[in-house]
Amino acid sequence: MSTENSSDHLFNNSVKILTDLIAFKTISGEDNTSLIEYCDKILKKLGATSFKTFDNENPKQQNLFATIKAKKSNGKKPIILSGHTDVVPVSKGWNTDPFKATVKGDKLFGRGACDMKGFIACALAFAPVYSKASLDRDIHFSFTFDEETACIGAPILIEELKKRGVKDGICIIGEPTNMKIIDAHKGCYEYTTYFEGLAGHSSAPHKGVSAVEYASRYVNKLIALREDLKKRTPKDSIFDPPHSTLSIGGIFGGIAHNVIADKCHVNWETRPVVKEDGKFLNLKLDKYANDVLLPEMKKVFPNASIRKKIIGEVVGFEREEKSNACELVSSLTGDNSREVVSFGTEAGLFQEIGISTVVCGPGSIEQAHKIDEFIVLDELKKCLNLLDGIKSQSISN
Ligand SMILES: [Zn+2]
Repeated sequence: MSTENSSDHLFNNSVKILTDLIAFKTISGEDNTSLIEYCDKILKKLGATSFKTFDNENPKQQNLFATIKAKKSNGKKPIILSGHTDVVPVSKGWNTDPFKATVKGDKLFGRGACDMKGFIACALAFAPVYSKASLDRDIHFSFTFDEETACIGAPILIEELKKRGVKDGICIIGEPTNMKIIDAHKGCYEYTTYFEGLAGHSSAPHKGVSAVEYASRYVNKLIALREDLKKRTPKDSIFDPPHSTLSIGGIFGGIAHNVIADKCHVNWETRPVVKEDGKFLNLKLDKYANDVLLPEMKKVFPNASIRKKIIGEVVGFEREEKSNACELVSSLTGDNSREVVSFGTEAGLFQEIGISTVVCGPGSIEQAHKIDEFIVLDELKKCLNLLDGIKSQSISN
């Protein structure tokens, strides 16, 4: 092996790139364009083609999709290496500067070290090897924005992939799993429902429309539907708890004891084990709001309203009996286990357009979103090994 490809060189380079990535303060919701430019520059230098996608109303947050093309294609499915570029905010109490990578012993500390700039760093460090190899399939790099909030960036990229006809292949989402194979997780749907009634004096409740009271009835309906979700538990569910869950995160409304509240909103979420549960729940709930609550409200105040706002609907990632993505990773790591996780990822979005997907990446979710987030350096080496295995599966003999 030439020095450039030696594993030491690759590892050192991954640490250097990870250090650079951590220095970009790409907190969800904020500008990530300098990080995207940094990644694009590395890949373009290697001859990759790329395009960026974003919401026209917010061009300061971008997805990057870059491709190192096959030298001679023989119909093998392309591989997508996918990571989100955003990190969660930092709270006080860090022992190091969260945006300055700090190596102590066998660990590297910094926000995003494991979730999930570590994987992106490995992919970028390995890219020169792919560009020199006689690849017989395309290798794509997919770096998205705002995964942590509600997977806001990825759907914009997925739309573009559909337009460009990229709807087949194998996708590895490098979320921190200690390089274990994750092949399923629940969906995560978040909503805020706004109630608008009519204010008035509390001594004459019949002359006003209490947004708080209607919101309470709405919450009761949600709690009743929660029981229905339990009854719908699929046989052989692989999740814990086995059914779709539903939780009320907060109720906000009212200004005083003696004033009828004209405004109230409810934050709630559901984690469906199957897509049908999400549909079932929303259908029943909307029907109750529109057929029962709203007509009552309008009788007193015709302008009354109930508005359900979707904060995010991160689709679930469903286990497949035969998964090309899982089999590829198993064949390279020798690990045949399959696990489910309680956190959401972009996996379901890729799966939805027919791309075989697996979640597998360096570092542990235990350290994600926490003070003193770190990645064990050895995890980067394991990830580089996987990427090397992918190379050997992507060159013609
Ligand atoms: Zn993540």
